[in-house]
Amino acid sequence: MTQQYMPLARRRWLMLAGASSITALLPTLGWTDGEGDEYDSGSSTTAISPATTGLTGKMVVVGGGMAGVTAAKYLRLWGGSGLTITLVEPATTYVSNIMSNLVLNGSRTLASLGYTHGNLSSKYSVNIVRASVTGIDKTARMITLSDGSQLLYDRLVLAPGVEFEDAYGLTQVDYETRTPHAWRAGTQTQLLSDQLATMPNGSTFVMTIPKAPYRCPPGPYERACLVADYLKTSKGTGSKVIVLDENLPTDPVNPYSAIQAEAHTFTQAFSVIHAGVVDYQPGVTGIQIDPATKVVSYTDRMGVARTVSAQVVNPIPPHRAAGSRAGGWLSQAGLANSTNGKWAVVNMLSFESTAAGATGIHVIGDASQCGLPKAGHIANQEAKICADAIVRLLGGQQPDPAPVANSACYSPITATTASWLTAVYQYEGGAFKVANGGGVTTGAKPVESDSISTKNFQQMNTWFNTLMGDSFA
Ligand SMILES: Cc1cc2nc3c(=O)[nH]c(=O)nc-3n(C[C@H](O)[C@H](O)[C@H](O)COP(=O)(O)OP(=O)(O)OC[C@H]3O[C@@H](n4cnc5c(N)ncnc54)[C@H](O)[C@@H]3O)c2cc1C
Repeated sequence: MTQQYMPLARRRWLMLAGASSITALLPTLGWTDGEGDEYDSGSSTTAISPATTGLTGKMVVVGGGMAGVTAAKYLRLWGGSGLTITLVEPATTYVSNIMSNLVLNGSRTLASLGYTHGNLSSKYSVNIVRASVTGIDKTARMITLSDGSQLLYDRLVLAPGVEFEDAYGLTQVDYETRTPHAWRAGTQTQLLSDQLATMPNGSTFVMTIPKAPYRCPPGPYERACLVADYLKTSKGTGSKVIVLDENLPTDPVNPYSAIQAEAHTFTQAFSVIHAGVVDYQPGVTGIQIDPATKVVSYTDRMGVARTVSAQVVNPIPPHRAAGSRAGGWLSQAGLANSTNGKWAVVNMLSFESTAAGATGIHVIGDASQCGLPKAGHIANQEAKICADAIVRLLGGQQPDPAPVANSACYSPITATTASWLTAVYQYEGGAFKVANGGGVTTGAKPVESDSISTKNFQQMNTWFNTLMGDSFA
């Protein structure tokens, strides 16, 4: 592999990325609003002319979701024309989880959330392989695919997202057919939407929230709000949305202190905007769900056994890195190396796995354990930090010693209003920490919107289209 001084143009790119990649997310292209048909960036799909950096090597990226596509794209933009980049992903269309709660109230269609990998191949010369990874040989630096073929790599970037545990007495078949979690957007989202549509006024919707860490900290609370709003506005005020949260309140006298993100916003939403419909119960244990009768039993945080008969049950089960189950491809390769065996622990400067013998294997997105929240915007940022580190390593340099990641997240509270949460994470003293002021105001914590408004809802669409454009266009 040729080592070469980093060209000035690329260094300027890196400076922009170092500024937490905020710049890379500015809406510079003419995105569509995503409604009605598959995403169209509105920009050219003509092949770019990547720089000649002198860098070479076989880069294999696994997973064509938020993290994987961003890594493949930025490896080309920053690594130049000499890299061979391959993306392994079984699905021809990626369905965005972000915004998928809006399918439940009919504001969006699943089709409007579909993204292909066409730009990756036509603009960024990334080879797309339609298969799943089934094994990794760390010594031979080779992966095996579901079609029996094998691929050699110099650097392997794993971005497979999560898989869901059989929980609360339910199986994967129950999730697919009777009690959908819809925590990976797709057919389960449509099933849940269809089930909601059949709920008469006066019926009960029960949803569960697993203990953190889980994907998208504000997402379950956002869903509770949208379901409550939908039931109120389209069926009448007689229905109930019972939210069984396995997370414990941090303040024993304030049940809402169990809320994992945007606590101020969701306290207002549950206790004022959707008061009388949302029944929020934190600190519950022992949830059991009968998928046939939709009877849910659990123990409340006072230790009292309770039973609820629901029309629709939406369990969000505990999840883990895809492939990390006993016998799964990630665990067999020794890469599910967190204490509980559910996540891939990584070096936060490069997202390279800390597992024994895993040199050259990076894990990004929801599958990794790196101290950052599991979110799509963060997955985009991790991919850039990882791509930057790989390019530096290929060039004989060290990864950026102080990377920065930013995150924004909008949460619809009704069909027309939303709030937001934002934070800047600075690597410091061996960990990512929320920068002082969250990057926005004083105090080292994420900053949330001080109001729930239609303006936020409009900005949400701009944020979403820009983020998806930065990843997929
Ligand atoms: C309802 C909901 C709302 C959300 N809202 C937001 C939001 O507002 N803002 C936000 O930032 N985040 C949000 N998120 C979270 C966000 O969607 C995830 O954090 C993000 O998708 C993680 O990206 P990822 O690339 O790690 O995984 P994914 O996007 O899930 O992509 C993983 C990809 O890997 C592929 N794959 C899996 N196994 C293999 C294999 N063996 N071989 C090859 N490919 C494989 C899958 O097919 C998939 O395409 C939300 C999530 C949900 C469920």
